[in-house]
Amino acid sequence: MKQQRVIFLGRILGIPIEIDYSWFLVFVLLTWTLAVGYYPQAFKHWPVVEYWVLGAITAVLLFVSVLLHELGHSVVALHYKIRVRSITLFIFGGISQIVSDPPNAKIEFLIAIAGPLVSFALGGLFGLLRYLAEPVAPLLALMEYLAYINVILGAFNLIPGFPLDGGRVFRAAVWGITGNLRRATSLAGNVGTAIGYLFIFVGVWQIFAGDFINGLWIAFIGWFLDGAAASQMRQQRLQDLLAGHRVGDAMSRRYVSILPDTTLQDLVDEHILGNGERSFIVERDGKVIGLLTPHLMTTVPRNRWSATKVTQVMISGAALRFVQPGTDLWQALTAMDRDGVNQLPVMSAGRIVGMLTREDIISYLRTLSGLPVPN
Ligand SMILES: [Zn+2]
Repeated sequence: MKQQRVIFLGRILGIPIEIDYSWFLVFVLLTWTLAVGYYPQAFKHWPVVEYWVLGAITAVLLFVSVLLHELGHSVVALHYKIRVRSITLFIFGGISQIVSDPPNAKIEFLIAIAGPLVSFALGGLFGLLRYLAEPVAPLLALMEYLAYINVILGAFNLIPGFPLDGGRVFRAAVWGITGNLRRATSLAGNVGTAIGYLFIFVGVWQIFAGDFINGLWIAFIGWFLDGAAASQMRQQRLQDLLAGHRVGDAMSRRYVSILPDTTLQDLVDEHILGNGERSFIVERDGKVIGLLTPHLMTTVPRNRWSATKVTQVMISGAALRFVQPGTDLWQALTAMDRDGVNQLPVMSAGRIVGMLTREDIISYLRTLSGLPVPN
């Protein structure tokens, strides 16, 4: 599902840059750790304010470093004409939302390796600047820390657990050698799971050895890696299962169409309460002009439902997406995920022929795998 817990910062190279709210928590924690822990230990007898200011500057520059790492991936993707939908900076670092899978192993490898290379280059750059900064103690401290943290960032991301960059590098290598993306994905997933377990094991071992905080962190990272690998493998299984099947096989031919001047209140009285419909096609003179879901109606206060027409809240224009009966079912599902919707109208020769919902896909999957279909 599309998540809205982000703040839009601006665009770089046409790519929207966003921060997840969780990042602010990390910002505060990091500033605090640096101001009361790292800096006072490494550089003694400064005024307290200086530690805090330096801590905050460091956290911001770390943010810039993570952003540059992500831009490294994006620049390579854009070079190969692969669209990057957004870059989101969140609690674990950053995510570049690259729209499609890379067309071949070499390109996937180059996109994946670009981020860690940027981090290592930044590590080297700050390492050099350290010598220039030598006479100014706070500046020296800052350069030292940034050199260190960028190298750690690059190295951490090279851990071969999917979906970390190292996992992608590993998958690209197996893909390149075997020529088989499916086998590469499942092998990368298994390695990711193994590494996740290894982290959890080491973390728990450290907790028992008395290093509680570090152990907890390592175990937490392991848990995250294991979860990511598992979801990657689930996705692969789903893709295998859906391969070769079309929207027309799974869609329901039944859909409810309503007129443009229907009010939300009419809709509730006539359709939603009565039949439990999930979405409505808005048609004018036999032409589809929009799609309405109960979710959209909740954006209007209940006392204004009788004065609000469906055309005022429906999805319309370019935001209204269609699929065709011949569209690959996997592609349709990917499109739903990308746009954060639960249904897509199915059009053929300019006419609507049905609806495809997530439920349709799930019950189709049940039929495919021989499981009983509910109702
Ligand atoms: Zn990366």
